[in-house]
Amino acid sequence: MKATLDHVGIAVGDLGEALAFYREALGIEVEATEDVPSQGVRAHFLRVGSASLELLEATSESGPIGRYLARRGPGLHHLTLRVDDIRAALRAVAARGAKLIDTEPREGAEGALVAFIHPSSAHGVLVELKQERADSRELAPQNANGVRAAEQAPGTVGAGADPEPATGWRR
Ligand code: ZN
Repeated sequence: MKATLDHVGIAVGDLGEALAFYREALGIEVEATEDVPSQGVRAHFLRVGSASLELLEATSESGPIGRYLARRGPGLHHLTLRVDDIRAALRAVAARGAKLIDTEPREGAEGALVAFIHPSSAHGVLVELKQERADSRELAPQNANGVRAAEQAPGTVGAGADPEPATGWRR
């Protein structure tokens, strides 16, 4: 089981200041923004190499980020690791006695499967596991060379399998 860093979620109190810090001081551009009214959050993704920073702005005091900011202030909220087989990963961490927030994966943005591991079992950090949508790989028709998409290098299988889909605060 290999895991790859997908993104780091950071709860920000003052988005303008946070953007100024990352964009103006460090030259990191916002790549995408997604509003998730149901969660009371607006997520701003900044690409850093093969992973992203996800600046999480609360749009509601009662949403998870609003409550987090009220309780703990701005700071690291979660990190997300991409895995090939989220169910196998969940079994592996559960077998080690880890406390899972999601014992079964649920659907995240763009059809990804996601599940959270409780911070108490991950050395104080909320860890999200993420498996990208399978259908673009499993159901992909053969290409002209007769090679199934899943056998191609990551990133070559078309938009549906974009390794860095830029939406969803719980992607
Ligand atoms: Zn996230």
